[in-house]
Amino acid sequence: MEASSPTIFIVSGPGGVGKGTIVKSLVRRDPSIWLSRSWTTRAQRPGESPDAYVFATRSAFERRIAEGGFLEWTQFLGNYYGTPVPDLTSSELSGRDVVLEIEVDGARQVKALHPGAVLIFVLPPSREEQERRLRGRGDPDDKVEQRVRKAEEEEPIGRALADHIVVNDELDRTVDEMLDIIAAHRARTAASQ
Ligand code: ADP
Ligand code: 5GP
Repeated sequence: MEASSPTIFIVSGPGGVGKGTIVKSLVRRDPSIWLSRSWTTRAQRPGESPDAYVFATRSAFERRIAEGGFLEWTQFLGNYYGTPVPDLTSSELSGRDVVLEIEVDGARQVKALHPGAVLIFVLPPSREEQERRLRGRGDPDDKVEQRVRKAEEEEPIGRALADHIVVNDELDRTVDEMLDIIAAHRARTAASQ
């Protein structure tokens, strides 16, 4: 029997809500989740892992767009971000589901291409708490302001596209809720095969 194709779980939400922290915890707790690594043209943040992204030049990014190497890509606050087309034949992906941590325009593109993709939209407990998290991460004032303004644009779009909305209040509770959502989708997929 052919292995079933993976479910794509998209984790999206405003900057500073905790998406990166959540997906790191998801892959630690569930080995059958494969986390896609995006490309970006933005500079690495102080203290950010060099593995957080493939940090690329604009020309390298544009070359990859021209080659059809992205599942989706967008421009966000002046930089390119994109998801490389996953290699579904790789052994790394075998028997695992895919998690993409991306913004709402990319989420819309992935859902159009893969209607079975599941969008989990993460919200902060409040705008003030989102700002606190951005500052706590070391984002400078102008970046905090940009990201909060962008969040106000993104939120209604994300809510409309979302299959699930999760408030990231307490990290462990949020991750438990996301693992429950993923388990419920897997059970439904298994029952329909
Ligand atoms: P995003 O990827 O959405 O931009 P990050 O994962 O970088 O957000 O998180 C922003 C900051 O908020 C980080 O300093 C992170 O440690 C912190 N954080 C994440 N989740 C929580 C939470 N539930 N409670 C408090 N702080 C959190
Ligand atoms: P940051 O600069 O904070 O790491 O990311 C900015 C935004 O880009 C976040 O909302 C993040 O989820 C999103 N993002 C990260 N990788 C990708 C990607 O590959 N595609 C898209 N569309 N958005 C991404």
